[in-house]
Amino acid sequence: MRRPLVVGNWKLNGSLAVNEARMQAIVGAEKDIHQIDIGLCLPYVYLFQAQQLLANTNIMWGSQNVSQFEQGAYTACVSADMVAEFGCQLAIVGHSERRHYSAENSAKAVIRIKRAVDAGITPIYCIGETQAEHAAGEAKKVLAAQLMALLDLDKISLEKIKSFGLVMAYEPVWAIGADQAATPELAQSMHAFIRDLLSKFDAEFAQKTRIIYGGSVTPENAKALFNMPDIDGGLVGRASLDAHAFSSICAAALNYQAPSN
Ligand code: PEP
Repeated sequence: MRRPLVVGNWKLNGSLAVNEARMQAIVGAEKDIHQIDIGLCLPYVYLFQAQQLLANTNIMWGSQNVSQFEQGAYTACVSADMVAEFGCQLAIVGHSERRHYSAENSAKAVIRIKRAVDAGITPIYCIGETQAEHAAGEAKKVLAAQLMALLDLDKISLEKIKSFGLVMAYEPVWAIGADQAATPELAQSMHAFIRDLLSKFDAEFAQKTRIIYGGSVTPENAKALFNMPDIDGGLVGRASLDAHAFSSICAAALNYQAPSN
């Protein structure tokens, strides 16, 4: 049985005051919720604040990336070990905005996944096709290439990732920050495809790995998306900046019935 997971990605938003009010509102709304996992991924500079405000609550916190480097002369990079010191349990890796604005690719993303796992942090590996790739009917080819980049890691690292676990996020780039999410049916078919790809690593790994959907999730569409058998929750951008909307999305995941295998 996979436990639903809803993660807010605050991106480049917030201030100490705004974050405090938002985190307090989310903690207040979710304090009695124990059936699902909830996380917030903040800018690095606010991880200490998250640690102060979210410790001893049922909300996890995480970073929006980690470096592929461990330490050294890499100005402005932040390592997985560093964010682990601030109690992060999650780290987003391979987000399409990092791929687009900072030329990050799957080869770098899989090393970041390894760094996160080595630091005891669960990576949320984002994969998804662009509008052009979607229109060209190449979505599955793109997803397969992004996911199978894990095979470039050494065998020991791959085994470690499989036993520690990771979260996959299907984020069609054309649905991020857009007017509309992917339909539940389309998202389900891509999630099922991703699970099938994961089974090429190991059948048990495929069944236990949570695959969450990201791209214009709202309180209105969350339930239909989360009711799909292979959609195990959401990665939420804009709607996570509104504590009320985010809590409604979490509530939609509460009623989700994941299949047992
Ligand atoms: C995201 O960028 O991870 C995301 C899902 O954003 P939004 O919910 O705003 O589409």
